[in-house]
Formats: sequence, structure tokens, C-alpha cells
Amino acid sequence: MPRPILASLDPSAVAHNLSRVRECAPRSRVWAVVKADAYGHGIEAVYPALASADGFALLEIGEAARIRALGWTGPILLLEGFFDAADLEAVLELKLTPVLHDDAQIDMLLGMRPSAPVDVFVKFNTGMNRLGYTDGRGRKAVERLRAASEVGTVGLMMHFPEADLPDGVAGPLGRFEAETAGLPGPRSMANSASVLLHPATHADWVRPGILLYGGSPTGDRDGPAFDLKPAMELTSELIAVQQLAPGEAAGYGQRFVAQRPTRVGVVACGYADGYPRHAPDGTPVMVAGRRCALAGRVSMDMLTVDITDAPEAGIGSRVELFGRHLAVDEVARHCGTIGYELMCAVAPRVKRRVGFGEAG
Ligand SMILES: *Cc1c(COP(=O)(O)O)cnc(C)c1O
Repeated sequence: MPRPILASLDPSAVAHNLSRVRECAPRSRVWAVVKADAYGHGIEAVYPALASADGFALLEIGEAARIRALGWTGPILLLEGFFDAADLEAVLELKLTPVLHDDAQIDMLLGMRPSAPVDVFVKFNTGMNRLGYTDGRGRKAVERLRAASEVGTVGLMMHFPEADLPDGVAGPLGRFEAETAGLPGPRSMANSASVLLHPATHADWVRPGILLYGGSPTGDRDGPAFDLKPAMELTSELIAVQQLAPGEAAGYGQRFVAQRPTRVGVVACGYADGYPRHAPDGTPVMVAGRRCALAGRVSMDMLTVDITDAPEAGIGSRVELFGRHLAVDEVARHCGTIGYELMCAVAPRVKRRVGFGEAG
């Protein structure tokens, strides 16, 4: 038998979540964000569920090539543009839509003299202070691009730093409107949080990522509270059970010390599978259909759970680290991180399966 850890993927959940985007932003086109191999889910696994999106957004040429290989002929947005001339050749060949945030990229693009016009977006920095133009330089970039015969459509884009907050978009939105006043071209602002919380930001194109996979973009509500369905379930099994007397401890550093006679279940899942090593005692883990608590430091290949209150649990019992019965967002909150990180962290050594199967 192979090691029992498994990441199951449910394309129908992704399709449901995309339909939530359509409900929330009915007048906008949708860039389905599939960077980081579809947030760890695998581009090929989610593609059929996302093929009714209007475009895909990602960072790497290799991922764009994989989407083209799946038969996608529509637009593909390169969120960080291109990094050098070799990239740019692939951008032209694959007919990608780069986001340009710097004059050096524009020089490179126009210097290439592409044979067919290239569609682009120009990135405006409205307070995130990572990528993008400020102080009227974005307008100059747009005007320069619009005058070049090598360039097709010139879109306008920005990214919110605090769209997860109820009043988090007004400032950047106002700055974007001022910087782009009177400029034609399609506009794109909204990530998942804005899709769900801020209709005023939806504009021509929305760019949801995490919500497509059923994760929440906000710290205070889990995905299901937004009627999102989890697309990934990380499961394993108990491979051993230990009986601890009060005062006995479990795992490296002996972090968990039994306060009562305690049954400890040993799960085939560790940080080398992508489960966070910094998960504290008490982090929820589903064992045999019951919520139990992590007990002891996560090791490389195993973790330990207090299963005293799940007397039916034993070797071979099903363990859900996150999924349909335990939101990834809740596990992430215990670990001081966000669902995005846990999804993206699932390691290559974890087998993937399409479909959630029977053992719900
Ligand atoms: C990742 C990313 C998104 C998607 O963000 P979510 O919070 O996952 O919806 C949108 N826009 C840009 C520029 C991104 O980098």
C-alpha cells in the first residue's frame, strides 16, 4: 500500500465557485487566477472546470504554455509581465497579455517590433507599493503604448492591499480613478475579496484566485460562509496509536504533555507533505469523522493527535487535515497563516487524485 496521504481535488467545486463569481460580478469578465499551479491544485486538474472563464491569469511562461496545450485560445494575463527578452519571445509566440509595470518592459516590447499587435495592461500603483506606476507616469506609459502600432488593446490595472476589509478599497480606488481619468481601455481591479465585498471595484475584468478553490480571502470568515466549496481535501490515515499516562509527552521537544490518560493517534502527514510545522497544539484535525486536536510538534513525516475523545478511532481511521469537514481557513487561522499558504504548500510527494471519492 502506498503511504496513505492524498490530496483529492474536486473540479465540480471549482465550477461552483466560478459560478459564485458570475453571481457576484455579473457584468464583468473573469480572469481565473491559476498562478502557482492553480494554488497547488494543478492546472490540468482544474482547467475543465474553469474553461468557461473569459481568461486565465498567472505568472510563468511554462504555466501559460500548459494552458495553451490544453486547448485554450483565449487571453492569458501575465501578472508580472516578462523579465527578459527570451521571455518576451515566448510571450509573443503564446499570444500572452503582459501586465507592464515599468518602462524597461515597454522599451523591450516596442524594441522587439512584434509582427502582430500585442494586447497589454498597464499596472498602476495605488498604495500597495510593489509593482506599478505612480504620479502620472502610468498615464504617460498608456499614451506611449496607445501610439505604438505594435500594441493592441491597452488595459488599466491595479491591485488592492486591503480589499479584505469592509472599508479597505475607497482610498486606492479614488487614486486609480484620478490617475486614469479619461483614459480608454478595459479596467481590472478586483481580487477575490473585492469580488465578494466590493461591487464598485468589479469594472471590466475581475481577477479571483483563492475563492475559485473554495478558500476565503478574509481572515474573519471561512470559505463556506461565502457559499464557496473546497476544491481540495488533504487526507491521510492513522498509522499507529499510543497510550500516554498523565505526565508522559509526545514528539520532538516533548511539547505535548498528557494531562489525563490520553490516546494519541499518529497520522502519516508531516511538514514534508506541506502541513505547517508551526501548527500549535489544539489545531483541529478530523479523525474518524470527529474533530480532534493536534498534540505535539509536527514532524517531517508524521503528526500526532489527541484522539482520547474518539474511542472508535484506530489504525487505518480516516484523517482529514483540511477539506469538506474542516475548512482550510480554520486550520490556517490556528497556524497564524492563510488558507492560500496551506494550499500552495501541499508538497509534490503527496499523491493527487481527481474526485473526492467515497470516504466522505
Ligand atoms: C494573486 C493575484 C490575484 C488573485 O488574488 P486572490 O486573493 O487569490 O483572489 C489577483 N490579482 C493579482 C495581481 C494577483 O497577483
